[in-house]
Amino acid sequence: MKYLITRFREYIEEQEKNREAYEKTSYWASENNTCARQIFWKWKKEKQTNPPSVTGLQIMRTGRKVEEQIVEDWNKMGILVSPPEGQDQHYIETERFGVRITGKLDAIIKETTEDGKEIETPVEIKSYYGDYQEYRLFDLQPNESYAKQLAIYMDALNKDRGILYMVNRGSGRQFQFIVTRKPKKYKIEVATYVREDDNPDNETERLEFKVGFLEFTLEDAYNHFAEVDKYVKANKLPSAQFQYKYPITLQSLKLRKNNAISKARTGKAVLGDWQCKYCSYKAKCLKEQEIELGYSKEEQQLLIELTKGYTTKQWRE
Ligand code: SF4
Repeated sequence: MKYLITRFREYIEEQEKNREAYEKTSYWASENNTCARQIFWKWKKEKQTNPPSVTGLQIMRTGRKVEEQIVEDWNKMGILVSPPEGQDQHYIETERFGVRITGKLDAIIKETTEDGKEIETPVEIKSYYGDYQEYRLFDLQPNESYAKQLAIYMDALNKDRGILYMVNRGSGRQFQFIVTRKPKKYKIEVATYVREDDNPDNETERLEFKVGFLEFTLEDAYNHFAEVDKYVKANKLPSAQFQYKYPITLQSLKLRKNNAISKARTGKAVLGDWQCKYCSYKAKCLKEQEIELGYSKEEQQLLIELTKGYTTKQWRE
């Protein structure tokens, strides 16, 4: 008898294979930092050369369910503003810099301000896993493209306040980032429960807060879409926005972390932008640039040579 785990993987694989290529008719708010080439190829309905693996698909599906569960709970709490009839989410559509931008907002919730005013706040939920991500969240550094995505929705809805709600799929820890629109920047305030064991009565004592600023402008995102749009209309491939392999020079290598260098030295990874690592058009893009996948023998040798003693202080100096 076939293992259930295998049957499930095959089912997911089959579903993905039969999925119709998406007809793109707008730029998505979530693509605010996506490589121009990727967006271009999506518009042109190019077949992905590196589609997500079954494991990748399972991660995405699990993440989506976690986010849906939270919205369902908010609905039961009676704080959710229902999407318009016939829609499962709030559909956002706007035009900026002559380009149509759309997105699906996870939730709009009802809140009451200190002075008793009823307000409606857009909320974008993202799930994540891993200690590194969590460390960045504690340090007030959520992924900038998530914050920009929310900011685009806030702009479309003309709201000065939004919430980026993040949940760890492993530990269950949740972060609430209040994003407030200010002239030229966004104030960000994070709140998370850190002292559940002590369980003090006062909410502010149970929560940890931090406040800072996110320095980005929406003009950057809108310009990005408008720029890609020129290439789409001219049917011309934009240049590669990210680097699959960083140049193998001492200067460039010294910017990399020890564990990344270690992986590169042992041939387990190349040193490059993560966007290329996970890109679904990687093979196509590398072929077009005449870049070899992985390191050649010569490149590997040079890398090993230049990174001799990389764990020492002297090498970093
Ligand atoms: S491989 Fe890198 S540069 Fe090429 S399309 Fe993908 S993300 Fe862009």
